[in-house]
Amino acid sequence: MEVHWIRGKGLDSNIYLIKGDETTLIDAGTGLHHNYVMHEIKKHVNPRDIKKIILTHEHADHYGGVRKILEEIGKDVEVASHRSAAERLRKGSDVTSLFFGFSPFPLDVGLELADGDRIRAGDDELLVIHTPGHSPGSICLYNEEEKILFSGDTIFQYGSFGRFDLPGGDANALLDSIEKLLSMDVDIIYPGHGEVVLEDGKDHILLAMDNLKAALE
Ligand SMILES: [Zn+2]
Ligand SMILES: [Zn+2]
Repeated sequence: MEVHWIRGKGLDSNIYLIKGDETTLIDAGTGLHHNYVMHEIKKHVNPRDIKKIILTHEHADHYGGVRKILEEIGKDVEVASHRSAAERLRKGSDVTSLFFGFSPFPLDVGLELADGDRIRAGDDELLVIHTPGHSPGSICLYNEEEKILFSGDTIFQYGSFGRFDLPGGDANALLDSIEKLLSMDVDIIYPGHGEVVLEDGKDHILLAMDNLKAALE
């Protein structure tokens, strides 16, 4: 799987460009660093080759950039998210955008995902894992052959986990979600923020579970 990491600037989420027949972006940042993002994308692909943008969840630091990317490359790009995130994205009611310095706007999500779905990305397939807790519509995406997990804001490097105190957050749901991730064999983790994990990903997930349990005691 050919994955290019576009490191999030400022408060932006990381963006992952998966190159192949079905060139895909995972997440889109806030949109406040649009020129940088397009510059990074163009290092690897013609932006017009992007077929799909999958959003790991409904927060503005991940979806805010979609509108400008679509404007720049045309409308034939499918936007996908978990169905619970899609409902919120269509309403444009996400309050987190205010933290990131812009007003929420409605986003048309054409493809609704559910737990257990398989979705094409690049030349491979990703399994959709519904992981609520950080937000109701959070998903992780897993490639079994290469043991790659795109973890959104559910877990990060070295056992950090997503905050659960935002509207729609739920600590116990987050714990269940992290437990669910432990049933996967994971080497590489591409998280929504911070550094990527290039080996022993499962150790980082275990640590996240221990840390969250300790925080809840
Ligand atoms: Zn985020
Ligand atoms: Zn988030």
